[in-house]
Amino acid sequence: MVRPAQNNPPVAPPQPAAGAEVPNGVAAAADALGPVLDPADLDPSQLTPMMRQYLEVKTQNPDAILFFRLGDFYEMFFEDAVRASELLQITLTSRSKGADRVPMCGVPYHSARRYIAKLIGFGLKVAICDQAEEASGKGIVRREVTRIVTPGMVLDEEVLEAKENNFLASVAFGDPGVGAAVLDASTGEFSCFQRPTAEEVGQELSRLEIRELLLPEGADPGALQALTSQMAKVPPTARLEGAAFEAGRARTYLLRHFKVASLDGFGLADSPLATGAAGAALRYLKETQRTEAAHVDRLAVSAASGNLVLDESTRLNLEVLRTVRDNSRKGSLLGVLDRTTTGMGARKLARWLVAPLCSLPEITSRQDAVEELSLKGVLREELSGVLREVADLERLCGRLSLGAGNARDLLALGRSLCLLPRVSAVVAQLRSPLLLGLLGPLGTLGELAAELSLAVAEEPPLTLRDGGLIRPGYHPELDELVQLSTHGKDYLLALELRERERTGISNLKVRYNKVFGYYLEVTRSHLGSVPKDWVRKQTTVGSERYITDELKTYEEKVLTAEEKRCALEIQLFEGLRAQVVANAGMIRAAAEAIATLDACLSLGRCAAEYGYVRPVVDDSSEIEIQHGRHPVVERMLDRELFVPNDVRLDRQAAQILIVTGPNMAGKSTVMRQVALITLMAQAGSFVPARSARIGLVDRIFTRVGASDNLARGQSTFMVEMTETANILHHATRRSLVILDEIGRGTSTFDGLSIAWAVAEHLHDRIGARTLFATHYQELTDLAREKSRVKNCSIAVKELEGRVVFLRKLVMGAANRSYGIEVARLAGLPPEVVGRAREILVNLESGELDEAGRPLPAHGRNYRMADQQLGLFARDQPPHPPSPSDEAARKLKAALEAVTVDTTSPLEALNLLAQWKKQLGEG
Ligand code: ATP
Repeated sequence: MVRPAQNNPPVAPPQPAAGAEVPNGVAAAADALGPVLDPADLDPSQLTPMMRQYLEVKTQNPDAILFFRLGDFYEMFFEDAVRASELLQITLTSRSKGADRVPMCGVPYHSARRYIAKLIGFGLKVAICDQAEEASGKGIVRREVTRIVTPGMVLDEEVLEAKENNFLASVAFGDPGVGAAVLDASTGEFSCFQRPTAEEVGQELSRLEIRELLLPEGADPGALQALTSQMAKVPPTARLEGAAFEAGRARTYLLRHFKVASLDGFGLADSPLATGAAGAALRYLKETQRTEAAHVDRLAVSAASGNLVLDESTRLNLEVLRTVRDNSRKGSLLGVLDRTTTGMGARKLARWLVAPLCSLPEITSRQDAVEELSLKGVLREELSGVLREVADLERLCGRLSLGAGNARDLLALGRSLCLLPRVSAVVAQLRSPLLLGLLGPLGTLGELAAELSLAVAEEPPLTLRDGGLIRPGYHPELDELVQLSTHGKDYLLALELRERERTGISNLKVRYNKVFGYYLEVTRSHLGSVPKDWVRKQTTVGSERYITDELKTYEEKVLTAEEKRCALEIQLFEGLRAQVVANAGMIRAAAEAIATLDACLSLGRCAAEYGYVRPVVDDSSEIEIQHGRHPVVERMLDRELFVPNDVRLDRQAAQILIVTGPNMAGKSTVMRQVALITLMAQAGSFVPARSARIGLVDRIFTRVGASDNLARGQSTFMVEMTETANILHHATRRSLVILDEIGRGTSTFDGLSIAWAVAEHLHDRIGARTLFATHYQELTDLAREKSRVKNCSIAVKELEGRVVFLRKLVMGAANRSYGIEVARLAGLPPEVVGRAREILVNLESGELDEAGRPLPAHGRNYRMADQQLGLFARDQPPHPPSPSDEAARKLKAALEAVTVDTTSPLEALNLLAQWKKQLGEG
């Protein structure tokens, strides 16, 4: 049984989705009604049968907001009502129960989807309880939960994002090892895997933007902590009893679902934990959706290390799918590369970007496809044009398989399947093996397409019950029923005319009354012409009434036609739906082919329109990029404004590049550019450069900027160090490491020491190709000590007292940071800027306190006029030499005068005492 999503530490309770706000004041609303009633406080003998039924259903679904169907409304009661009224901003009323008042609120059933979507957005579940039988007038109508909508179990297209998957992840913990399964109920995608640690599983899941996490009840908090520590945002969680995750039970469940004798064919023979997680996920789907889920017809096992690994913080830092600032697609790498025309293609492309390839043949094959599509503009346009009309086959198939679809879904599916031959015809003109390989799955659904286009009406209604689903001409019996129910009058007129002609009774009329139904009326003057086969039914003052066999048969047909018609239409609809379900595997394969084609088209279009080149990806140890550009920044700027840069990394001579340069020079940009170009190259995309050669990378790590993760109890510096530790533990010789400032979150000496040691470790022990941006000038000395460390910097020019950013990466270290100048540009108050300059001079002159620490804050009588002066030494009027400057200068001169080889220890001691005294006087 599905159990409540408890706030089971350390997994966070459901959080509102991004952008959603939980309004305050739930308590206030409740107060207005008096205390909120706990159903347990009610006297059972006082309960109405309806309330008893409600409570029974609610007890079975304690963790979900219960939408209880009463007439044209879904009603909510008790705590659910208080909570929902606040979140949905609807009126909270009460239903009187003697002296007690039961809080209640409701939403019209026809607009329920909107409200459900909102609650799901807050990470809640909604159980939908409908009438399970027609009201008979006797006793209470039976009601049951037909579906539970949870954040991970959404089928409604209005709630789903077309371009995003809606994944549920379930996790089974073992000892040793952890298994996970990922299921998109809306498309039927289902995969699972097993890894040695919870961290690794958490990392892989973090790639996928999981909407709901399914966990075993009573899972070990330590393991949960390890799992969720890898996720920037922990999704809402649901629990299922531990037994559902147990390998043996899960195996039996999966065998029954897939109707197979063994799971070995799925590659699950040695993965009991993956099996456990998959069984639990499928059980959750079936229990919440109360369906057979036939569209879930395969289970892929994802092998470890098949892809370039991007952990969560790297994916976020590089803004692969969304921007850090506002979590939007626009401004992310996907935002630039997504020129797809279908939701299937967009979802596929997103997956390619978060899991680039590591296999050279696969990369080459994708590159070939992208290249061909980039070059053949006419075919590309033609294909995009057709794909634009193709509906979301995966989701249509998912909805229909789960029993949630309607005739419009069938229509859209049919129309889309009919377009596949057009897609195939264009694809057949291409050469790339990957694209030609799509022809197989695209060519299998002709029969179903033909059937659906013959069967489904042009404009079917949303509901199934009122008919209008099936196209005329598809089913003769239905046509007759439609004819009868909609064109009955015409039939009667025709019959009347026929009988008039046959009998010669000119004023013969077909009439109807409630007692006799249809009859033929003949006035007395024509009674002689009445034929023998008419049966007299009634005599009135001036006429006789007759019936005929034809009229009686017709009557029966007409009167029940409407009812029969609707029933037959539903039956035919179900038949068609069954055909879709029977073909679900092939539809999903076709959808997969369309997704691949669309994603390749998108990359091909970007390659052609953005001036990208095909990178050489090989297994060398190099990364060499000529005239590289940042794919996102260049699109934000006018093309000419972006300054391209060359970067070369290799494991022999330039394994670590220490990047220095003023603030705002473009250090982060150039480093991310290298990471993004690498990522794009391994995803099969062309890249923004004049040429690029990428020696395969197994993981990209980034440690960028400072961010608090207070929600997880980590300070800025702690986050920084945790990320750094992660890099040092997991990076290999094949990895690419981007370090943008290390050790900035602590004191200068601590920070510099850490940065230095990290760089040394990467050089001596790991050997990963590394770009290391720093403002610690001292770090550039590392190049003298370590053979594979090279310095480079971003050039700036000083022009009339201002910094001009040249954005050009050059070899050699920068000599200063210009931080204060950038602070001035950013609008820091002049007095603060002036004081900062003063302190800087202090620090640069090496003034130390008695403990040997730099002494920044010696007060000085700086003149107000100084605030206006430029920062650059040569533009500044010389500061009056400070006493400590003077002492230091003298000391330096004295030191230089000493010949160490000829100085005795005693003389040295004397000199020391003398200098110390001088310093004291200074
Ligand atoms: P800080 O040390 O302050 O973090 P930074 O050196 O990392 O600064 P970036 O953040 O990379 O600087 O770049 C600052 C801005 O400069 C970017 O937002 C971008 O608009 C611009 N910029 C960076 N590189 C280029 C380039 N190659 N061509 C044109 N504009 C660029």
